[in-house]
Amino acid sequence: MRKVTLIRGDGIGPEIAAAAITVIKAAGVNIKWEEVSAGAGALEKFGTPIPRETVESINKTGVALKAPLTTPVGSGFRSVNVALRMELDLYANLRPSKTFPGIASPFTDIDLVVVRENTEDLYAGVEHMVGEDAAESIKIITRKASERIVHFAFDYALKAGRKKVTAVHKANIMKLSDGLFLESARHVAEQYPQVEFEDRIVDNMAMQLVLKPHLYEVIVAPNLYGDILSDLCAGLVGGLGLVPGANIGDNAALFEPVHGSVPKYAGQNRANPTAMIMAAVMMLGYIGENEAAGRIQNALAELIKEGKQVTADLGGSAGTKEMAAALTEMLR
Ligand code: NAD
Repeated sequence: MRKVTLIRGDGIGPEIAAAAITVIKAAGVNIKWEEVSAGAGALEKFGTPIPRETVESINKTGVALKAPLTTPVGSGFRSVNVALRMELDLYANLRPSKTFPGIASPFTDIDLVVVRENTEDLYAGVEHMVGEDAAESIKIITRKASERIVHFAFDYALKAGRKKVTAVHKANIMKLSDGLFLESARHVAEQYPQVEFEDRIVDNMAMQLVLKPHLYEVIVAPNLYGDILSDLCAGLVGGLGLVPGANIGDNAALFEPVHGSVPKYAGQNRANPTAMIMAAVMMLGYIGENEAAGRIQNALAELIKEGKQVTADLGGSAGTKEMAAALTEMLR
């Protein structure tokens, strides 16, 4: 039986994690969950937001399914998500945004993938106060990490049958850091003549994605632009409750929803479990359970299209549990 590390997370995390586990089981996949904790819950219990055993478990199983974690804003511990990605060198953050038929959105037939660099940029957390009234954050961009993420984007494009990769930057202003990212992207692109390559300045990219989203397929970006643009793409397909993300390294991968822990809905059976279930679908594909992954995805698409047994944000009247139960019934 395949072992997978499970982090149930904070806020709405435990509810959507339970939904995903039920659905995976209903699809006939037997997984031995190795449950560990992280985030605010782990801090309370173990005195650290990332207990050693959590990292060790992911290193050992090589695969993790994780619900969102709460990170204090402005002070307190650093983001556990960022720390986990760095600790495990999960350098590629893959965020697909694909339209579910039946979702009310002015945009139709969106099928975009953002490949976000996951280990450096302003997320390296190198910041300090300069006296009392100024603060500096240092943006770190290296050739190694930039080439590695652009290779990942092109390899993904080839595997997924995508025809174009677009690199995003602000090299007109940050000539050294973003300039290095762009130079690295151009260098790597030369090694993939079968895939079209182009680059866009990030502000223009944001506008283009709203005006002409169908012109783009795979977008590769440094950490911060990738974070922002992938939320924009999530908005194009109906919101954060729907889209999953995969954090992939050479030795391990961690799958999670893009959204956060929505503390205001915690324990209320109101959270939409779709993004968490889609993260499970990506995880199943990664471990070779493609048939089950396909069946879950199709059943979820059908349920959302019907629009009844879905959560309120999708226009339905079901709770998290009822939506998972309806999906389970369809899969059986
Ligand atoms: P959030 O994603 O938790 O919530 C933003 C809004 O999106 C919510 O108010 C809600 O209206 C909607 N939403 C998101 N997911 C939903 C779902 N499944 N069902 C229904 N509605 C949903 O973002 P936030 O409020 O900025 O952050 C809250 C906490 O989550 C913070 O502590 C933040 O650090 C953390 N966070 C964690 C992750 C992660 O673990 N990967 C990612 C983002 C934010």
